[in-house]
Amino acid sequence: MAADKKYDLLIKGGHVIDPKNGVNGKSDVAVANGKIAGVASRIDPAEAAKVIDVPGLYVTPGLVDIHAHVYHTKEPGGLSIVADHHMFRSGVTAVADTGTSGANHFLHFKNTVIDKSRVRIFAFVNVVKSGMIGPFEHDIREMDAELAAATVLAYPDVCVGIKTAHYWTSEPFDELHPPWLSVDRAIEASEICGKPVMVDFFPRPERTYPELLRKMRPGDIHTHVFAQQFPVLDEKKKPQKFLFDAAERGIVFDLGHGSASFWYRNAIRCFENGFYPHSISTDLHIGNINGPVFSMLTTMSKMLAIGMELEDVIRKSTVAPAEEIGHPEIGSLSPGSDADIAVLRCGTGRFGFWDCARTKMVGTSRLTCAMTVRNGEIVYDEDGHHLPHWAETDEAR
Ligand SMILES: [Zn+2]
Repeated sequence: MAADKKYDLLIKGGHVIDPKNGVNGKSDVAVANGKIAGVASRIDPAEAAKVIDVPGLYVTPGLVDIHAHVYHTKEPGGLSIVADHHMFRSGVTAVADTGTSGANHFLHFKNTVIDKSRVRIFAFVNVVKSGMIGPFEHDIREMDAELAAATVLAYPDVCVGIKTAHYWTSEPFDELHPPWLSVDRAIEASEICGKPVMVDFFPRPERTYPELLRKMRPGDIHTHVFAQQFPVLDEKKKPQKFLFDAAERGIVFDLGHGSASFWYRNAIRCFENGFYPHSISTDLHIGNINGPVFSMLTTMSKMLAIGMELEDVIRKSTVAPAEEIGHPEIGSLSPGSDADIAVLRCGTGRFGFWDCARTKMVGTSRLTCAMTVRNGEIVYDEDGHHLPHWAETDEAR
């Protein structure tokens, strides 16, 4: 930082939405030494080494996507994306990989991806020790609760919980494939390590949806809530009472859009009747990044299109998911926290958005990313906000 300046960076004149701190209005955001130094209606630009004017743009905490796949697993069939290629351009500064790795490959994941990425990466460790994706996900010998929990306990700053997914969705159950095996082992692991389970689930007559919600404990996260396979609507197409009861009990409902897990026919009817997800996440992987998911901001724009208020969309993409994964130190612009910031455009017009049923709707707002700041550093700036105009520079430089 220039020795005579109080701040390294001042993001000036934007509309700040910081739900954790109750800020929703025109404000300036100052950054010093990689931390948020202050948010106020006017901060003197003379005190900052670099001033970026962002009138007409929204300034929010860096987005937090708690369901994505960012580890090119050692198992064949991996579908992950490279976090640094995709996250900053969507305003995402923290992402949780959900079970791509189990205990077997966690250290490889940490060494080759987590520790080398600029975006902050957390992990839900798969209760299946080989992780995803393959026949081992259905193998009783692979589900080692103690090993999964030991991995989480060994890396408590990075590991945020246990993941269960993809277990025995259509074949008949037998002694080697009891209906609840994967969920029960995941809960066992969670009880040992003291961190929540994220559940990806496929109901069947032998393991019903209401039973699943009863098994889950407060703080456990049900991802893919609006997937086709979940009977979230009653015969009148209203959200089931058991959903509200589960939310009341502390079960967390997460969007987890994915290739097959966000259906307007379920989501819109839930929204219309007061049942919303607690957090918005993408489940991004190479199978859906070119549709129907595209990005965190497209997913958030869909929430706007189906009637969620912008402040709520930001809350459910920042502070809410941060708290769900036990990291309340991120997801806000609180002074002293790491300066992770998203500067967003909210375009108006007619925009098409499609879901996993391959149906679409038209919305009037679309969020896109103008700039992303991670630890006080500008890591994405499509409009060149931080650069001088070419005609105003010294041509000899
Ligand atoms: Zn997933």
